[in-house]
Amino acid sequence: MTDTHDTSSTLESLPHPQEVLDAPSPAQEGPVGSFVEVARSGDARSGVLFTAHGPVQTPVFMPVGTYGAVKGLTPRDLKATGAQIVLGNAYHLAHRPGPELIEAHGGLHGFMGWDHGILTDSGGYQVFSLRGLQKIDDTGVDYRTHFDGSKHRMTPRSVLEVEAKLGSDIAMILDHCPPGDADRPLMRAAMERTTRWAREAAELREQILAPTQMCFGIVQGGTDLELREEHLGQIAELGFSGLALGGLSVGEPTAAMHATMAAVAPKMPTDKPRYVMGIGTPPDLVAAVRSGVDMFDCVMPTRHARNAQLFTWAGRMNIRRAEHRDDLRPIDDRCACECCTTTSRAYLRHLHRQNDPLYGRLATIHNLFFYAQLIAVLRQGLRSGTFDAVLASIQPMLDTYAPR
Ligand SMILES: [Zn+2]
Repeated sequence: MTDTHDTSSTLESLPHPQEVLDAPSPAQEGPVGSFVEVARSGDARSGVLFTAHGPVQTPVFMPVGTYGAVKGLTPRDLKATGAQIVLGNAYHLAHRPGPELIEAHGGLHGFMGWDHGILTDSGGYQVFSLRGLQKIDDTGVDYRTHFDGSKHRMTPRSVLEVEAKLGSDIAMILDHCPPGDADRPLMRAAMERTTRWAREAAELREQILAPTQMCFGIVQGGTDLELREEHLGQIAELGFSGLALGGLSVGEPTAAMHATMAAVAPKMPTDKPRYVMGIGTPPDLVAAVRSGVDMFDCVMPTRHARNAQLFTWAGRMNIRRAEHRDDLRPIDDRCACECCTTTSRAYLRHLHRQNDPLYGRLATIHNLFFYAQLIAVLRQGLRSGTFDAVLASIQPMLDTYAPR
């Protein structure tokens, strides 16, 4: 029994992945921090976001490099996967290695040797996940780190101060993200606190961040559409450079997550980028793009790669399985990544069994390339007026990733 499927017939009409990744940008120059929409189909849209480190073609998937590295990849590897902008985490980097050392390198770009876009998350989500290690009040959160248990305080100001030293192109503000199963009063309390912190961040940003650093606000409200709209109204008026939907993919049913994006994203301002934090599976990304979301990030392609779970155009593949032992074919014959153009399934499985670090590098390159290609194909579909045909072509592939 194989875990991959014959989806090739419907994919024939898609352009070659490399051609898609190499497609020229329809807008080459714009003021740093600005966003232009260049194509639209229904609620879905494509645009260009201008950062201090070059234009970002949207929709865009952002690989996660929490500590200033996408595990196992060099910046050159990362660029070759089609990555345009990567994530760092202000909380993690504030403790390891500390913002001063990063600042001494000219910021996170210099520290990592990455000359393209960087978005930093506040790390509030991680701090709120430290069960029993934090005490939250209206002006911030006291916590003990998961590194050494030392005591610290995170506030809207402290987050921006760290992000200023990191020099990220996009700085996320501190927000309060409640668990997916939080009841309405808790959801509302988190919303109100997030608004208070957002107002404070909006007042401080010009004083703390560099003029080239964008600053994004975050909308909470769970899957409650009334709360989401109310909160969107509060955050949208604060003048942030972009808006994010937080608190999705935190344990709520997939259908509710998709419905929330479909209802809320189209109501977000059209002249600013829209970001959904922490998603997701290939169907989640497609649902987000269809809803008009421009940016997403997720640990899934990188974490799954290390756990032997590979994403392919023919469905998921567990490289551990015995069926791959003698298989000379690449992971995915549609894929132009370094892994698929140089190695076989048998070799990759062998590396995995030998626990060779090369396995992690090749598998991560492949999964990130798959994600970048999937989004690039959607982007190209939007820009060439063939979005519906692209959606029809990839539907059998998406079905293989549906929850089961
Ligand atoms: Zn590949």
